[in-house]
Amino acid sequence: MSDPAQLLSNLLGPRGWLAGGDAAAHMRDWLDRCGAPPLGVARPATTREVAEIVRLCAAHGLAIVPQGGNTGLCCAAIDGQGGNVILSLARMNRIGQPDQASGSVEVEAGAVLAALHESLASHGLIFPMHLGAEGSAQIGGLIGTNAGGSHALRYGMMQDLVLGLEVVLADGTVWDGMRAVQKDNAGYQLRRLFCGAEGTLGIVTCAVLRLYPAPRRRASALLVAPGLDALVEFGTRLRAEAGEFLSGLEFFGDTGLGFVLDHVDVGGFPLSARGPAYLLVELASASDHVPLDDILLAQFEHGVECGLILDGVLAASDAQRAHFWKLREELPEGQRLEGPQLKHDISVPPGRIAAFVSEAGELCGRLLPGVRANPFGHLGDGNIHYNLSPPPGAPDFGEVAGKIGTALAALATGMSGSFAAEHGLGRTKIALADATRGAVERRLMATLKQALDPAFLFNPDVIVARNAKE
Ligand SMILES: Cc1cc2nc3c(=O)[nH]c(=O)nc-3n(C[C@H](O)[C@H](O)[C@H](O)COP(=O)(O)OP(=O)(O)OC[C@H]3O[C@@H](n4cnc5c(N)ncnc54)[C@H](O)[C@@H]3O)c2cc1C
Repeated sequence: MSDPAQLLSNLLGPRGWLAGGDAAAHMRDWLDRCGAPPLGVARPATTREVAEIVRLCAAHGLAIVPQGGNTGLCCAAIDGQGGNVILSLARMNRIGQPDQASGSVEVEAGAVLAALHESLASHGLIFPMHLGAEGSAQIGGLIGTNAGGSHALRYGMMQDLVLGLEVVLADGTVWDGMRAVQKDNAGYQLRRLFCGAEGTLGIVTCAVLRLYPAPRRRASALLVAPGLDALVEFGTRLRAEAGEFLSGLEFFGDTGLGFVLDHVDVGGFPLSARGPAYLLVELASASDHVPLDDILLAQFEHGVECGLILDGVLAASDAQRAHFWKLREELPEGQRLEGPQLKHDISVPPGRIAAFVSEAGELCGRLLPGVRANPFGHLGDGNIHYNLSPPPGAPDFGEVAGKIGTALAALATGMSGSFAAEHGLGRTKIALADATRGAVERRLMATLKQALDPAFLFNPDVIVARNAKE
């Protein structure tokens, strides 16, 4: 028998192989884009099964698209061309007991981030990755995209939180790199190679993740500023004064806040007046003895005296703190519900954030008068989600969508930044990478792909296109 669908079905059983209508839920991403019908969805329960799927697909010339929670924003976890095998690790979701003394935990790749947070709650430890999609995003997907999130300025990106990995390679062999140490310079940094590889170099099946002591104290504030330049100046001072206690520094504008208040039930806006720019600040400490409220209050008052801050409120309870974060985290959902949008995942050196947003506004306004910009993101690391909605009443972006993306990428690159800060390239940004990155860098990436996956078995046309092997 050589029908690959039948072979996969036999190998994995009814819980492990979905086809036809049962596969439909895996076809479209969070933005409802791009899905083409796959041959089916493989849902292995063990690393051995993953390896067998890889060997079987390789033998039949079928490509594999690894899929986590499918919340990635670059069409990297759905079948772009159709007829391929989507590999979902959702059944491989075991979370081990944390190693308290070492600050680490073993987690299977299909575990959902929020479940990991919950499992650690009673141990006095945290895994410090937080993002709006944490109720669905899986460890394998977070590693695949090298996710950043709202605490990256303090704890780093996913590559900084992964100590060890187990990966199934394109020939069906398994790399056991499940070490649990920060320091391991025995050769190339293989674990980092798979962080941000978007499923193109291997299937991550298990990881050892780095944990931190849970904060005992937190101080949070929602501040209103006269503009982004004031926020950047305020943020610079805050970094100097709050140092290692600063764990969140998130900015957004009034257009984005309007989308959230119009479309999402967030419990209203906690300040008496709106303004042009907002900052969510969070300080956290594992020690009970650090006067975080005093530090934050002093900086808030100083900001007001200098005219950098117009108004603000310090969270008086965990519920109020959660309310501030909800306003920030619902920004993508608010804009999604507003209608069509263009997402741009930019990073620039933090000192250039205001300059980027100002120049980008002029540039986009010239290309599409009336376009509505909703810049928001992570002030501490310069990551700007520069998302656009069409002018009021316009159905979409017409012919200019591509031009806007190229112009913004060039602007960010010209400021020593990136056009793919934390979401990756996926299928949607390969052309931008070709247009923006030098030939040497592109050749290095193609060489890596060629070395690890010469037959383009894993996620073809993500990061490196098949016709760009050189
Ligand atoms: C509301 C919202 C807010 C978000 N906020 C942030 C944010 O603040 N910061 C941020 O970085 N991202 C953010 N994202 C993007 C997204 O959540 C992240 O990219 C996340 O890491 C994707 O995880 P996932 O499990 O959904 O992966 P998927 O979307 O399923 O997959 C992402 C990539 O990883 C690959 N992959 C999946 N599993 C594996 C595996 N086991 N082995 C190898 N490759 C694999 C896929 O092939 C794909 O290339 C946000 C998304 C949404 C919808």
